[in-house]
Amino acid sequence: MPKRILMRATLAAFLLALFLVPSAGAYHLEGGRWPANTVRYYNEVPAYTWAVDTAAYAWNSSGARVQFVKSSRRDADVLLGIRWFKVAGEARIRRFNGRIVGARVGIRNGQDRYVMALVTAHELGHVLGLDHEDGVCATMNSRLDVDHPSQCPAPPPGMWACRLLRVDDVRGAVSLYGGTVRPIRGPEFCPR
Ligand SMILES: [Zn+2]
Repeated sequence: MPKRILMRATLAAFLLALFLVPSAGAYHLEGGRWPANTVRYYNEVPAYTWAVDTAAYAWNSSGARVQFVKSSRRDADVLLGIRWFKVAGEARIRRFNGRIVGARVGIRNGQDRYVMALVTAHELGHVLGLDHEDGVCATMNSRLDVDHPSQCPAPPPGMWACRLLRVDDVRGAVSLYGGTVRPIRGPEFCPR
């Protein structure tokens, strides 16, 4: 009898341990959060407008207490424009005396607007202070497999991955800016 109680106690401790480490292998942070909860952005490329605004809206409606708002080029914290590199996108954070003072996001041209939206959502994640996460399905996966993050399911033919952020991405942002991780609504894939 005492042996059985001991086993139950051990099992309970084990289950508790499982629940205490839900974030193992989840989102990673890099370089600290943005100094404000509002990030002003300016997009230099008219052809990118839909992709950039859709990505900004995904973050703005995520539940994390941070907002990307459009501004003039002069007032922008983040400038988005073309990059001629082979990588799909890139985010460079500018610091002054260790403080984040701005960011430059480059998006490779020639990608379709759906991929561009996904790439922009990923780069804005870097702007917010998120690093790559490859242990679970996340927009912050380091690699894009054609049209979806490498650890997420591929969209069926004729569809795109319109769920631009995943729970893990939002949890990372909420850990930096506060807010709540809202249940993800809407379909994972949408018709192109
Ligand atoms: Zn990245």
